[in-house]
Amino acid sequence: MPETSNPQTSNPERGVRDLVSAVATIEGEGFEVRRAFPTPRVEAPDPFLLLDHVGPREMAPGEARGAPDHPHRGFETVTYVLSGETEHEDSVGNRGILGAGDVQWMTAGAGVVHSEMPSERIRREGGLVHFLQLWVNLPAADKMAPPRYQEVSAGAIPVVAIASGISARVIAGTVAGATGPVETHSPFQYVHLSVAGAAPPVRLPVPADHEVFTYVMTGEVSVGSDAHVAPAGTLVRFSPAEAGAAETSLREVVIAGGTDDGDAIVVSGRPLREPVARYGPFVMNTRQQLVEAVEDFRAGRMGRIPR
Ligand code: MN
Repeated sequence: MPETSNPQTSNPERGVRDLVSAVATIEGEGFEVRRAFPTPRVEAPDPFLLLDHVGPREMAPGEARGAPDHPHRGFETVTYVLSGETEHEDSVGNRGILGAGDVQWMTAGAGVVHSEMPSERIRREGGLVHFLQLWVNLPAADKMAPPRYQEVSAGAIPVVAIASGISARVIAGTVAGATGPVETHSPFQYVHLSVAGAAPPVRLPVPADHEVFTYVMTGEVSVGSDAHVAPAGTLVRFSPAEAGAAETSLREVVIAGGTDDGDAIVVSGRPLREPVARYGPFVMNTRQQLVEAVEDFRAGRMGRIPR
């Protein structure tokens, strides 16, 4: 598995392709998200489907909004709470509250109906709301698998200092000898880097056959050996996955401090290279499968939330 390495024993760099600002859009019952992809300018990098960033924003009492009952089929949603509390309930009978640092990795598979809301306390009293949601596609063979939840509390996520001024919370995959607790359907890396301003560059190995991106949540970080400054709300795209590259072949993403402290995720995954048919909350391989998804949802075959 990938290990961080020092520059003396480095692999080739994964070059920075471009930096793109996320686009403000409205979701759920009316809350603003910054969408990194897909946008008119940025296609989702296979195997990813969507990345939304909410906040950080201090909500007044009564202001916080969420996404009430809605279905999903054919992919996974990964919610990473940075501040605040997200309350979830679903048709499989799961319910709970995610707090700061917690991750919920939901495999919708054949279908689930869930709600994602600010907690009752945040809705009533207000407070700081800040989270990310990433959609990860499922291979065709797993799209109709039974729904599954992995709920990971903040304390179960290893934190490692990978260089002077740079620490990593490893949610999935392996970085600097620490392995994240989430089990994924395909090779995958999801790391949250906290980067002190002016931290010297670190080289983060990523498999050559993965797509990889960085997204900056707060402050700023510097990316690439030519030090592009990426402020909060920026998606950084790198050179594309090398199809057919050996699984052990590594390339390195270079990250350093900016003029301010920053927080960013670095996420990579192996492309599925399968046809994608998407319609709202359903992501399948063919248009016919989308029609079936809509029919199944309308007929109640994805269940309902017991209340
Ligand atoms: Mn959802």
